[in-house]
Formats: sequence, structure tokens, C-alpha cells
Amino acid sequence: MSKLPSTRSETTFVDAKRGYSPLQALTEAHRCLYCVDAPCVQACPTAIEIPEFIRKIATGNLRGSARTIFAANIFGMSCARVCPVEVLCVGSCVFNEMDAPPIEIGKLQRFATDAAFERGDRFFAAGPASGKRVALLGGGPASIAAAHELRRRGHACTIFEQGQLLGGLSTTGVAPYKMRADRATEEVDWVLGIGGVEVRLGVSVGRDISVQDLLQSYDAIFVGLGLGADRLLQLPGADLQGVRGAVDWIAAFKTGTISLQGVKSAVVIGGGNTAVDAVRELHGLGVPEVTMAYRGDETRMSGYEHEWRVAKVAGVRGLWNVQPLAYEGDGGRVGAVRFAKLDDQRQPIAGREPVVAADLVLLAIGQGRLGALLGDIEGISLDRGRLLVDAEGRTQNPKIFAGGDCANGGKEVVNAVAEGKRAAIAIDRDLCGGEAS
Ligand SMILES: Cc1cc2nc3c(=O)[nH]c(=O)nc-3n(C[C@H](O)[C@H](O)[C@H](O)COP(=O)(O)OP(=O)(O)OC[C@H]3O[C@@H](n4cnc5c(N)ncnc54)[C@H](O)[C@@H]3O)c2cc1C
Ligand code: SF4
Repeated sequence: MSKLPSTRSETTFVDAKRGYSPLQALTEAHRCLYCVDAPCVQACPTAIEIPEFIRKIATGNLRGSARTIFAANIFGMSCARVCPVEVLCVGSCVFNEMDAPPIEIGKLQRFATDAAFERGDRFFAAGPASGKRVALLGGGPASIAAAHELRRRGHACTIFEQGQLLGGLSTTGVAPYKMRADRATEEVDWVLGIGGVEVRLGVSVGRDISVQDLLQSYDAIFVGLGLGADRLLQLPGADLQGVRGAVDWIAAFKTGTISLQGVKSAVVIGGGNTAVDAVRELHGLGVPEVTMAYRGDETRMSGYEHEWRVAKVAGVRGLWNVQPLAYEGDGGRVGAVRFAKLDDQRQPIAGREPVVAADLVLLAIGQGRLGALLGDIEGISLDRGRLLVDAEGRTQNPKIFAGGDCANGGKEVVNAVAEGKRAAIAIDRDLCGGEAS
């Protein structure tokens, strides 16, 4: 049973991409060329055997297809919905070079994995108990994927999560027109159905339990703490009501109910994917005027172009080459943002200070980093708050591994899953004296 209220604001959204009917899936699967050394596989961070799972759909082996996907990526169901396939597998499909539509890999993956999930299929069992214990810090996709892999190899796992929900940003961040929070938590329950993973919710590592204590009690530690809170700008008016971080606001409307009564215009500051999600969400929730304000021009924004295009078509306005100077308002509430117009060198142009009406201002200029939490642990090195690890997720401390956003600086769910799994295999190898079990 989901812990999420059924009345939460995100439920007003419907899937932006509809699923396939059996006939559509079959037709699309038969278009695939089943390439050798397929570029789509190389583009997938979890290296799913894409031609293999598509061929299994084409031959009516739906369960086998799902198994192929989950064997590589245990979050295959949500990744089918949330992966930026346009720049990964679908973007690499050979059909792009042939002036023909690429194979809809995400939709086919969703067709196979949804069917398995709805049937309650299980593919993997826990391995024989190894007697080793691993602590996983954070309950996002990186830690959960790592825990699943460790359980397959027989190691006992404990996840420490500061919040009351598992799934990290997959639950609280992903746009609801891609996947709602309840689907994310159901998937987590399904993954942890492998059994033997102790989950300790409401435990903040660093505050309620120290990494030093965990090092004493566990054979290895996987750090999957993600990024920190939204970065904010200390500008005049920063304490006005209605000025807040975008990730915090997104989590609030995905997991609960928010009121946008009286919000006629909203401004999102930033040009990345969180900013683009936020403007689409504000528009979808009925805010009449939504503006995305970015310090570069449209060609320089880091948000995916295909996502921004949808926002633009919906009527979201882009305000380019601007930098916020102050939030303005009356009676303690924000009412506008004053910007400086920037020139090509990103320098303010004297006398050009556009003011944009805003009853709500969301800051989407990045999230903070781990910083102090692990900085003083022996063998841990940080680069601007990002944990430094090798290709297998090892830090210089032989007992500590890491993966996901806290180590890669903030990528996608599929990267977190790949890195969590890779680190789990390395942990297993170390715990078993050099032989992966
Ligand atoms: C708004 C937004 C939209 C996104 N949309 C997409 C998308 O459409 N597709 C996609 O693939 N990716 C998307 N992403 C990125 C994706 O969600 C992340 O890359 C992924 O969730 C990272 O997984 P993780 O496990 O490394 O970290 P997280 O998902 O951040 O999980 C970390 C967990 O650690 C917990 N934690 C933090 N500190 C502590 C502590 N001290 N003690 C205990 N627990 C702690 C947190 O509460 C959290 O649950 C989005 C991100 C954002 C912000
Ligand atoms: S590149 Fe395209 S055609 Fe080739 S295997 Fe992958 S999906 Fe099929």
C-alpha cells in the first residue's frame, strides 16, 4: 500500500507518452534490424541487450524479453519511462542514418516490463548467505540497485534513508507526465522483493548515525546520497514568500498537495532539465503565465532541446541572457523579479533591467553537494563536493564505494542504476577475497 496521499497534486498529470498495444509493439519489434554490435546497446549506460529483448517481443516471448531487460537494469520499468532515450538508445539507432524513424526502444521496453510487473513476475533470488554486511547510505536508485545486486550475491544489506520514502529523486523529482511517485515506490517495493534488505527510514547519516560508526559495524559501505538541497541566490528579497528551490517545490507537489491559488505568473530561473521540467509542470498545473529565465541564450541552455520544445509549444516564455538582481514584493510576498540584461560576454548592460511579474519564483540553478559529510573520512577525496571514485565505484578507502549523483555530479536514473550495480559487483569481489561470487 502506497504511503502517498491519493489527492496529491501530481495526479492531475497523465502520461505524456502512451504505452503500446500488443499489435503496435509487435509491428515495431518486427522493424528492428537486430544489429550486431548494436549502437543502441553501446549508448545504454546499463548495456541492455536491446536487439535481444526486441527479438523476444517479436517472437511472443514477453517474459523472456523482460528478463533480458531486468538482468541488465533492475529499474528497467522506470527507465523505459524516464530515460532521455532521444539522446541515448533511440538517438543512436541506425535508422537515424537512413532517413527513417528510429525504433521506439523506450516504448518497447515499457511494453515488456509493464507486462512483467503487472503479472508480478520475479526473476532473481537472493544468493546463499555470505555472512557479510553492507550499509547503503541513501535510498535512491543507486543504493537500491546496489542492494539488489548484493542480495543476489548473498550479502546482508541495510539502507539508511533520511526521508520517509524510498526511490530518491526517481520518486520525488521525475516529472509526473513521465512517471508518478506511486509508480516509482511500487517499483522499489518490487526490486526489494528479493528480500533480506533492511530499510531504516528517517535516519540521516551524519546526524543520527556517523559514517565512522557504520565503518565499525559493516564490512563495506556504499554511498548513494545523491546531491544536496537546491542552491539559492542570496539576493535582496530572498526571504519573500513564494521564492523557493525548484527541486523542493517539485517534491512538494509530487508527494503532497500544493495550492497555486492566486499564482497568475511564475518565473523559473535556470536553463537545465530541472528548469524545463518545472516550467512544464507549472503550466500543466494551470499557472497562466510561465517564464523560464536563463543567463545564456536558447542555444546554450543545458536542458534537453526536445523537452524545451514541448514547453515552448505549450506557451512557456523564454527570457534569455538575463541574471536576477532582486526579488520584489509587497506584504512579505514576492510579486516580481528584477533582472539585469547581459551582453555576449555575460556582463550586465547598463540601464537594461527588465522586471517580470512573478507570484512564484523557482530557483533551478543546481543542487548543493555532499561536502562535509564524508570529507574527513580517511581515503575520501572530493572534487567540488563530488565523491571521487574509480570506474568500479571505489574510493581510496577500501571499505567505501560510491555511485549515482553524489559521484557523477548529477546525471540520470539509468546512470545511478549502472553505477550502483557496478559498485556492488566490486564490493562482492572484495568481500569474497578477489573472486566475484
Ligand atoms: C527535478 C528532477 C527531475 C529529474 N528527471 C529525471 C528524468 O526524467 N529521467 C532521469 O533519468 N533522471 C531524472 N532526474 C535525475 C535522477 O532522478 C537522478 O540522477 C537519480 O535519482 C540519482 O539517483 P541517486 O540514487 O544517485 O540519488 P537520489 O535519487 O538523489 O537519492 C539519494 C537519496 O539519499 C538520501 N539522502 C541524502 N542525504 C542523506 C543522509 N545524510 N542520510 C540518509 N539519506 C540521505 C536522499 O533523501 C535520497 O533519497 C531528475 C532529477 C531532478 C532533480
Ligand atoms: S540500432 Fe535500432 S535497428 Fe539496430 S538493434 Fe538497435 S534498435 Fe534495432
